[in-house]
Amino acid sequence: MRKGSIPENLNSVAERIVTACRSCDRQSDAVTLLAVSKTRPAQDLRAAYDVGQRHFGENYLQEALDKQEALSDCDITWHFIGPLQSNKTRDVAEHFHWMHSLERLKIARRLSEQRPEGMAPLNVCLQVNIDGEDSKSGVSPEALPALAAKVATLPNLRLRGLMAIPAPRGAAEDQRTPFKQLAGLLEALKDQLPDQPLDTLSMGMSGDMEAAIFSGSTIVRIGTDIFGARK
Ligand SMILES: *Cc1c(COP(=O)(O)O)cnc(C)c1O
Repeated sequence: MRKGSIPENLNSVAERIVTACRSCDRQSDAVTLLAVSKTRPAQDLRAAYDVGQRHFGENYLQEALDKQEALSDCDITWHFIGPLQSNKTRDVAEHFHWMHSLERLKIARRLSEQRPEGMAPLNVCLQVNIDGEDSKSGVSPEALPALAAKVATLPNLRLRGLMAIPAPRGAAEDQRTPFKQLAGLLEALKDQLPDQPLDTLSMGMSGDMEAAIFSGSTIVRIGTDIFGARK
């Protein structure tokens, strides 16, 4: 896409969401735009905030905490979307609203224990390694039901759904396949755990947003097409 200012880019991403939703008969407000701001300075987040962006996703903890401090006057919903070591869980438990990349019970237990009293439960998505890639994080589809059942018992977490980062396919049509698989896994989880608020499919990035929306995405995680290419 053309490289514009952050407000211009946000506008065109929002238009793409509307167009994609229209093409598959979904309401465009069913898809939340998560601005992925890793490696970007706080002033870039503020430029997006000033034109109405409220959800921001960060991958690196210390960098995220620094930006949260710089933007403490803003009403931002913070999403942690990167790999998390077990000795860093407290920072996520204390400073984020969402965690998309949960893949281990040990981390889940710590997040629940460390969530401060008086804060709403931490919203979590389980990350699924949908293509079974050695290089990718995430629980396997086979191990998902058992992990979900245990996470669902933790008092200070709210199990909201699933997240995945599928391998890029050549053809846009083929890109829908892994997203549809993830959507199918969420449907199965809803049957398994009917009491959980399972309403979230965190899927779709700059390169495959339309395929994800077509397949039922409720949160698209967009970095490059808002903030430009990362170094
Ligand atoms: C960086 C990142 C994104 C955004 O990717 P873009 O291709 O820049 O849109 C989304 N999700 C996760 C987990 C990421 O790490």
